[in-house]
Amino acid sequence: MTSIPNVPKFDGRALINGQRVAAKDGQVFDCVSPVDGRVLTQVASCGVADVDAAVASGRAAFEDKRWSGMSPAQRKRVMIRFADLLLQHGDELAMTETLDMGKPVKYARSVDVNSASNCIRWYGEAVDKVYDEIAPTPSTALALITREPVGVVGVIVPWNYPMIMAAWKIAPALAAGNSVVLKPSEKSPLTALRMADLALEAGIPAGVFNVVTGTGPHAGSPLALHMDVDCIAFTGSTRVGKQIHVMAGQSNLKRAWTELGGKSPNIVFADCPDIDRAVAAAVGSIFFNQGESCNAPSRLFVEESIKEQFLEKALKLVPGYRPANPTLPGTVMGAVVDKIQLNTVLRYIESAKAEGAQLIAGGEQALKETGGYYVEPTIFDGVTSEMTIAREEIFGPVLSVMSFTDTAEVVRQANDSVYGLQAGVWTRDLNKAHGVARALRAGTVHVNQYDEDDITVPFGGFKQSGVGRDKSLHAFDKYTETKTTWIRIDSPV
Ligand code: NAD
Repeated sequence: MTSIPNVPKFDGRALINGQRVAAKDGQVFDCVSPVDGRVLTQVASCGVADVDAAVASGRAAFEDKRWSGMSPAQRKRVMIRFADLLLQHGDELAMTETLDMGKPVKYARSVDVNSASNCIRWYGEAVDKVYDEIAPTPSTALALITREPVGVVGVIVPWNYPMIMAAWKIAPALAAGNSVVLKPSEKSPLTALRMADLALEAGIPAGVFNVVTGTGPHAGSPLALHMDVDCIAFTGSTRVGKQIHVMAGQSNLKRAWTELGGKSPNIVFADCPDIDRAVAAAVGSIFFNQGESCNAPSRLFVEESIKEQFLEKALKLVPGYRPANPTLPGTVMGAVVDKIQLNTVLRYIESAKAEGAQLIAGGEQALKETGGYYVEPTIFDGVTSEMTIAREEIFGPVLSVMSFTDTAEVVRQANDSVYGLQAGVWTRDLNKAHGVARALRAGTVHVNQYDEDDITVPFGGFKQSGVGRDKSLHAFDKYTETKTTWIRIDSPV
């Protein structure tokens, strides 16, 4: 593997009230690159005092209306400038993301930077086009139903799509006039800090958008427990998501929105309209982002009569996903985020072997000599719904293949999960497509494609995949209070 490019100097300080600052107690942690295990920089390890300062600055900004008091059209202009600046700094942001969390730079640029920028632009453009309501009251009253920003929004995000996950929350929250305190994952904190620098440059006033870096227990919990945070928007694991709801209840009953894990089923019927497309999507979607996608179709159900043909085609595609240096423009599979995640994925692979699944591709750590954390794209056939790899979220490039003969039975198995984030159905039979889509307990059902969507549609899950939806105009509901103003009209004419 060729060496990685000249690594720029990163500023790992938090951003509070418009200033880059060290943690108040001076604590830092190493920011390690999964590309080759090097320390990229040291990052402020924020704690209670730093979170307090960030929340106080967000509160002061909200109270004096430096942002919430701007007209929607003014906020729109600033948000669009912010989105433009992300694109102007796209190459820098993409390489930072790649070095920080291991994804191929080609996708960091074409997917992460572009989607984050587009999201910020979309909510900026939307905010001066959404209207409030007037209720159908008798003529003796006028009842206004208006939406107001909730105040200070805490945002906690994971490491798999750091910029996109942050944008999905900060964009509607900021556009609606709130102040935000963002806590990025300690495994990928660098692009969040740069986003906040660029937000300031775009004209979002100091104090409105703060970033506290640090671990979950030290920086995340104080935010979720804070008595002056009005809403906590979280994306991450189901395990921590449950704690977020508890912390909201233990403190000020802040609204809590959680976007959590998944174990999405992808059902391919024998009458699938294009088997090559179905194979490419099944393989491409589980290996994209090293399998570190909440909506990855990690459980593949193929109708028995086409399974052999399907797997033959799938195996031909696997070498194309061989891991390589993610800083190179041609790489499609990079490094998993850290050593802990590497070991988790390898443990699941061993559990699958021990439980009797048949390894037909990959299964090993790759590129050990680099000092980075790489896993071969891996496929198991002969998986059953009881096996650990069919039940638990692996968050790595591991596909579990199962076969079926009966539609009702495959729907039952697909729904047999604590998760309900997404699902796929491939068939040319319109009745079957609609019937199965309706029967699947998932926030999004993909029909004859997987992974195609955009900012206009909601994203989120049923069951333990979380509460609430990111994206689309529905996201404004998360960050606004609904107020009724009932005006009596004494003498209607
Ligand atoms: P995680 O739950 O370990 O961490 C997520 C965030 O929570 C991090 O910022 C972390 O520091 C913070 N955190 C951890 N402990 C905390 C605590 N006690 N209090 C407050 N904050 C705490 O998840 P992860 O490993 O970073 O991300 C992977 C998970 O995210 C997967 O389960 C994946 O499915 C999920 N995810 C879901 C979606 C979605 O939209 N549904 C999108 C992306 C990722």
